[in-house]
Amino acid sequence: MQATLKTNVTFNGTGLHSGQPVRMTVQPASANFGIWFKRIDVIGKDALVPARWDAVEQTALCTRIVNSAGVSVGTIEHVMAALAGCGIHNALIEIDSSEVPIMDGSSADFVRAFLRAGLVKQDAPVRAIRVLKPISVTRGDARAELIPDRDMQMEFHIDFEDAAIGQQTKGITLSNGSFVRELSDSRTFCRQADVEAMQANGLALGGNPEENAVVFDGDKILSPGGLRHIDEPVRHKMLDAVGDLYLAGAPILGRYRGFRAGHSLTNELLRTLFADPDAWCFEDCAPDQAARLPGAGVHIGEIPAVA
Ligand SMILES: [Zn+2]
Repeated sequence: MQATLKTNVTFNGTGLHSGQPVRMTVQPASANFGIWFKRIDVIGKDALVPARWDAVEQTALCTRIVNSAGVSVGTIEHVMAALAGCGIHNALIEIDSSEVPIMDGSSADFVRAFLRAGLVKQDAPVRAIRVLKPISVTRGDARAELIPDRDMQMEFHIDFEDAAIGQQTKGITLSNGSFVRELSDSRTFCRQADVEAMQANGLALGGNPEENAVVFDGDKILSPGGLRHIDEPVRHKMLDAVGDLYLAGAPILGRYRGFRAGHSLTNELLRTLFADPDAWCFEDCAPDQAARLPGAGVHIGEIPAVA
């Protein structure tokens, strides 16, 4: 069955790019509502923004959604990943700024708070999206694919010149709570040169290698404490993909493959999927399939101890 939170959950933090304080409250919502953001600082305009693939504005650095009144919410991917990975299907997210708080740069704070609040089952079956034929998009040397499979699977490969990142490959089945165990605490990462370029352009003003990002410089890791996992960067790219794929509006049953892919390519993949009616269908999940969705049976004790 579909699920929502038992109670409201509030997060106070900082916008990664704006550097401004943000207060965000994730609230329970009725069955079949989906995930919506509401900008409570916006007056006199439609403040509701749907967390859906067709509301995504093209942007390289984060995933931003915008409604027809031009009201937007940015950096939504880590909280979307937490909702997907905890199996939360319906929520209204009130926010008093244009950007979701970055917290520690991962989804761990969101996952911990959601699982502490607890979930309630709702009186409607989970409707998933089944991939029926292979779909792929390519941009330069980046590629993203969706392939038919019984459950939600994910494979990711990254290839960076920086020796401290290099090549990393990982594959997981997301059908057994593995998002929480294996991906949820992996933090966003970047290169020192990119940080300087972004900050010169007024971006990443809330970025801080001691609090919310892993910063690499050639073969060095500048963040104190080092990595949470030896392959934390590829895990974080998978976390991003889980969040970006949840903008499909439902769990996806199929295999996602990302090769150096990022937010905009994953969004283009969803647009390509939904443009082809033969490539997918809705499927009301029978109990055995629902038990294998991301988030089914997940427990707070499964959050990695390092987070
Ligand atoms: Zn990210």
